[in-house]
Amino acid sequence: MDLNTVLDVRDARRPEPWRPGDAWLGGGTYLFSEPQPHLRRLVDLSRMGWEPIRARPDGSVEIAATCTIAQLSRFGRTLDATAAPLVEQCCRAFLASFKIWNMATVGGNLCNALPAGPMISLTAALDGECLLQAQDGSTRRVKAAAFVTGAGRKDLAVSELLRSVTLPARSLRCRTAFRQASLYGLGRSAALVIGTLDPLDASLAVTITAATVRPFRLWFSLPPGREALRGAIAAAAGDRDWFDDIHGLPEWRRHMAFHLAEQVRHELTRDGVR
Ligand SMILES: Cc1cc2nc3c(=O)[nH]c(=O)nc-3n(C[C@H](O)[C@H](O)[C@H](O)COP(=O)(O)OP(=O)(O)OC[C@H]3O[C@@H](n4cnc5c(N)ncnc54)[C@H](O)[C@@H]3O)c2cc1C
Repeated sequence: MDLNTVLDVRDARRPEPWRPGDAWLGGGTYLFSEPQPHLRRLVDLSRMGWEPIRARPDGSVEIAATCTIAQLSRFGRTLDATAAPLVEQCCRAFLASFKIWNMATVGGNLCNALPAGPMISLTAALDGECLLQAQDGSTRRVKAAAFVTGAGRKDLAVSELLRSVTLPARSLRCRTAFRQASLYGLGRSAALVIGTLDPLDASLAVTITAATVRPFRLWFSLPPGREALRGAIAAAAGDRDWFDDIHGLPEWRRHMAFHLAEQVRHELTRDGVR
């Protein structure tokens, strides 16, 4: 895609005042895939030199916004944590060619805020925390589940940067269950549900993405029964929260979300809480 309104690509290492028409450039897999007539300059993050992933001594993992899906997938396969398989499952939930797999960034996926953003699913389900940085260098943190506020909408001010997402050690020790539904084989996710069961206190979180316009992370101090889970989802997600596009009607997505949530609950609790 020729972005013929873009007149300049700046290196983000050399700060300059932000202007209307500026946009951060992650991997460019979205930015270069459609017309962007409102853009004039791209501010390229690819040379920031941020370490893609840092496993911290406390067991948490910090993923830089510029970490690619390919880098995250490689890391997930070496991660010694109960929740490690979830990393690969979410990377594979991407409808991605080789090029996208190697170029798309975790930060770009979150900031694109598509309902089918698998990095949103992963980081929301594992109770990740986004580190956001303003132009004056000040920072703030927001939970990944709250960062995406609607289809294409996020809690990010103009010119603000997503720097990294941290997955807490405790979440990485959880048992997880993953379910995804698409209208067709290798299709874009129409419903993606992840359960996490905390072995320390037996709490269960069920996170619904793709079916809804934003993530819904439902937390239960003890695993609910089937009807209690249904009731909690129905109370949290209203009629307007179910996403509607070519990849699935809202009624079907809703049905699949309830169905997959029950499967996840059952998988994690059928043998008792371990
Ligand atoms: C064939 C194809 C299939 C795709 N499949 C999927 C899919 O299954 N699911 C899905 O979610 N997406 C999909 N996409 C869209 C896109 O590839 C992904 O959302 C990708 O993760 C975007 O990452 P990126 O690094 O390339 O972002 P970019 O294209 O660089 O940026 C995306 C947006 O995020 C902003 N941005 C990027 N990094 C930051 C940052 N650190 N801080 C603040 N803002 C930032 C940019 O300004 C831009 O608005 C697909 C695209 C194509 C072409």
